Amino acid sequence: MMQSIIHTYLRPEKKFPHVWCPGCGNGIILSAIVRAIHGAERNRNEVVLVSGIGCSSRAPIYTDFASLHGTHGRALAFATGIKIANPKLTVVVISGDGDGLAIGGNHFIHTCRRNIDLTLIIFNNNIYGMTGGQYSPTMTLGAHGSTAPYGNIERPFDICKLAASAGANFVARATVCQPFLLENYVKKGVQKKGFSVIDAVTPCPTIYSFFNKTGTGLKMMKTIKEKSITIQKAQSLPDEETGNKIVTGIFANRDYHEYMAVYKKLMEKAKRSKEDEGPL
Ligand code: SF4
Repeated sequence: MMQSIIHTYLRPEKKFPHVWCPGCGNGIILSAIVRAIHGAERNRNEVVLVSGIGCSSRAPIYTDFASLHGTHGRALAFATGIKIANPKLTVVVISGDGDGLAIGGNHFIHTCRRNIDLTLIIFNNNIYGMTGGQYSPTMTLGAHGSTAPYGNIERPFDICKLAASAGANFVARATVCQPFLLENYVKKGVQKKGFSVIDAVTPCPTIYSFFNKTGTGLKMMKTIKEKSITIQKAQSLPDEETGNKIVTGIFANRDYHEYMAVYKKLMEKAKRSKEDEGPL
């Protein structure tokens, strides 16, 4: 049987069947990530996929990259350690909206501020899927979860605006209904020096739909598609008309100084001043 590019990056003998539900968008995002890394021509032996906990965070174990399945909310902390230990590695981080924005929220804003050369893809389905259906920081007002039985009363984070204002070099959003755009953004993120954040909007037809009666994965994808508008279109509309839309596009693409480049210079300077001091 002829293998596609994606299959050559998977671990079919060891880790399949996967745990994702029928209609879940996680496989579409993983596929886009694999194609993007392949397209960016990275040596697979120098790529590390790091994740936290949750449905999305199962993704790295299905791929034939070095992978680290970490603890809840701490994927960016593990990834930062890996990058500092070996700056030559391409480190890609996979997280969910609960894992990455709630438990890992502090790591998120400080990794943006630090602007270290990592690429984070957030599988954003607005709920904690695997760990109990609690509302996440991206759940829209009025939506339901196990911890919001009467409807969520907290306004959601806009992942892209948060990342852009906190200092990440590349920030973009695409949905699973735009798999090639998503691939393109992940590739740009991998190629960009500095921290990149890609918000990948995806349906959870099992847990989210259980609490919100949003239907099958296909129906949810149709809803995502209908609600999506480009950032250019959003900029031409008043705020009240974009509130319930999914705005896709590039939110930041710049070249603030990258953490490891400055850290390396600092270490060289520290070494020189130590040598100037002479032997003890
Ligand atoms: Fe996907 Fe939701 Fe099932 Fe998790 S619970 S695998 S996010 S559909």
